[in-house]
Amino acid sequence: MLVSAKDMLQKAKAGKYAVGQFNINNLEWTKAVLQTAEELRSPVILGVSEGAGKYMCGFNTVADMVKAMMKTLNITVPVALHLDHGTFEGAYKAMDAGFSSVMFDGSHYGIEENVEKTTKVIEDAHARGISVEAEVGAIGGEEDGVIGGGEVADPDECKRIADLGVDMLAAGIGNIHGKYPANWTGLRFDVLEKIGEKTGEMPLVLHGGTGIPADMIKTAISLGVSKINVNTECQLAFQEATRKYIEEGKDLIGKGFDPRKLLAPGVEAIKATVKEKMELFGSVGKA
Ligand SMILES: [Zn+2]
Repeated sequence: MLVSAKDMLQKAKAGKYAVGQFNINNLEWTKAVLQTAEELRSPVILGVSEGAGKYMCGFNTVADMVKAMMKTLNITVPVALHLDHGTFEGAYKAMDAGFSSVMFDGSHYGIEENVEKTTKVIEDAHARGISVEAEVGAIGGEEDGVIGGGEVADPDECKRIADLGVDMLAAGIGNIHGKYPANWTGLRFDVLEKIGEKTGEMPLVLHGGTGIPADMIKTAISLGVSKINVNTECQLAFQEATRKYIEEGKDLIGKGFDPRKLLAPGVEAIKATVKEKMELFGSVGKA
């Protein structure tokens, strides 16, 4: 059964560790993340962007697949199915489809409109036991058309959105989606500290987890980050392993063309990446 992300993140915040959000793209991806979470006894959040949802034939298909898979694989650790960077309309579609958590990303609106729309989503989501993530300020990089300028959030605006009753809050602290540029100056811990002071017990979310050095991740967790989003890193691991399989000509040997064989190295690479992240975030054994 899917659960809201609220409890697992409050426990993470209190226990000074973070729960990983791993974005899924297909059946193999989902299976790899679920099996790794179960094996390591870690709570987990499956992230689905609106683009990935469309790719997988809609939120209903995704929710039904995840629920059926959890049953078949006997998954007993807490799993939240979470809409990543949702629009206002997208948040309602995901909730109707059975998602247990949604992000409404109103960061590209002015603060007043962000407050107004976030308030409405919280009201309707909480009535159904669904957790809500909101975002303040633009985070750099690009994600399904939501583009930011690598900005940092205003701690006072963070407090305003946190006080609306969201369950987790994403705030820009110099993080970027996708691969980090060579001249990246690192996370703004001074800003994170101020946001933490103003928002108290609110679990904070770090987007763009790919390529942030381990020591920075640990410092971010010590300053109140309780959820870390990982997407690109699993994609790169999958790509590298699949490329190696084909470049070594293994698809040409025997039944190496069978998708169950051809995709297997990529799946193992995703599992290894998820394991490495869960160990770094400290969520192993916390289910
Ligand atoms: Zn993001």
